[in-house]
Amino acid sequence: MFFMFKVKCSSCGFEFEVKSGKIPKKCPYCDKEGTLERKKSAQELLEEVEELEKNYVIKDKEY
Ligand SMILES: [Zn+2]
Repeated sequence: MFFMFKVKCSSCGFEFEVKSGKIPKKCPYCDKEGTLERKKSAQELLEEVEELEKNYVIKDKEY
């Protein structure tokens, strides 16, 4: 099974999909190193929101 995700270059803003499961060291567009960041998938963003909601519930109980 391929592990696919999107990466984005923080320098030039170039976005592309990675299929190997590893983030390349260099941006294929501007050729800079260390600028590529993994973009969060929709599922991960959803989980993050759920986590935030849990924290709010805990805070509400404290007050
Ligand atoms: Zn770039």
